Amino acid sequence: MTGAAPRKVAILGATGSIGGSTLDVIARHPERFRATVLTAQRNVDALVALCVTHRPELAVIADSALEAQLTQRLRTAGVTCEVASGHDALTVAAASSLCDTVVAAIVGAAGLDSTLAAARAGKRLLLANKESIVMAGQLLLQALAEGGGELIPVDSEHNAIFQCLPGGRPDLDASGVRRLILTASGGPFRGRSRAELAGVTPDEACKHPKWVMGRKISVDSATLMNKGLEVIEAHHLFGAPVDRIEVLVHPQSLVHSLVEYVDGSVLAQLGNPDMRTAIAHALAWPERVDAGVSMLDLATSGALAFEAPDLTTFRCLALAYQALSAGGDAPALLNAANEVAVEAFLAGSLSFLSIADVVESVLTELPPAPVVDVQMLVERDRLAREAARRVLCSAC
Ligand code: NAD
Ligand code: MG
Repeated sequence: MTGAAPRKVAILGATGSIGGSTLDVIARHPERFRATVLTAQRNVDALVALCVTHRPELAVIADSALEAQLTQRLRTAGVTCEVASGHDALTVAAASSLCDTVVAAIVGAAGLDSTLAAARAGKRLLLANKESIVMAGQLLLQALAEGGGELIPVDSEHNAIFQCLPGGRPDLDASGVRRLILTASGGPFRGRSRAELAGVTPDEACKHPKWVMGRKISVDSATLMNKGLEVIEAHHLFGAPVDRIEVLVHPQSLVHSLVEYVDGSVLAQLGNPDMRTAIAHALAWPERVDAGVSMLDLATSGALAFEAPDLTTFRCLALAYQALSAGGDAPALLNAANEVAVEAFLAGSLSFLSIADVVESVLTELPPAPVVDVQMLVERDRLAREAARRVLCSAC
């Protein structure tokens, strides 16, 4: 890459876990990458600190009420970047000429519009925000095709599969692919019975054995909904039918996923559990750059174990498979219900095991409808959230 201009990177959700890992990789390679846009929901302190270090051209705060405060604080800190605010400003930034690469690292359905905008604008899209592809898989792929950009998955499992496939999004049959195998750590509650899960707290659920992540995805990892969302994500990213996507529990989190071919070959991607590997791969692809990740030492890492997931105890994974098989907008309904349930669990008003009950009730109440456009999806997302809140109220 000698002599080429640095990639201009917008980091949507810069103050989060993925945002921080991305900025770490970018800072290691100033000749290759520049963080030109940084965004946050409402953490002004954290956003200002990132702007002081990385000197972007634009800082966006999603909560408009905080724009004046952000402007003032940046001025005091001697940072001269542009400031914008509001949900629409995220979408405008994602499509703007300030960036050629967009890291979609907002959590939840809140990331949908900006992810779609980046795709439509033909950016290199580094997708961490799995909820947007779960909700709008087909629409996102269409937007990508129209925009002429490229999507490189950042979710570690999908990044692993991307690396094990022959180039991007190949025709699986023509490439001799039999199965995609997503690994799952099993989360903090692996091996526990339903009775043992009845009283677990949000802090226990967020104490992931292998990964440090935001609280929503940490709870999803504990329920195995995260793996369910990832099955749906893999279906869209790689064009794999539901019966060719399997989940394998692997507590050490060193094998990040596998691809099985018809000749019996199984290719896997391994590495220490550190999101900077997937992020660096996606930023530099098809080249490779140092990610700051320590070397994998298999001689001392201990035995690698694998087991089948427990779909009876961790019902969210079964519900996600069910939603993908049901088709239409069922995955979007599943995602919306899950977001409401996880929020209630984190707030202390719903038990861990009831997260699956809320999701199941919403899927039962709202039969799937064909996905027509984004407006329709947003409306269905709203209906599913309303239905989920009704279930929560009836449970309290
Ligand atoms: P996080 O909670 O640490 O960070 C979320 C970021 O999004 C923050 O910058 C926050 O300010 C911003 N944000 C939240 N709500 C917003 C809203 N309504 N509008 C605008 N901005 C908003 O989350 P994370 O762990 O970094 O995860 C981000 C995404 O990446 C999620 O979709 C998650 O599933 C996915 N992901 C994360 C990891 C990981 O290791 N953390 C791994 C794979 C995939
Ligand atoms: Mg993952």
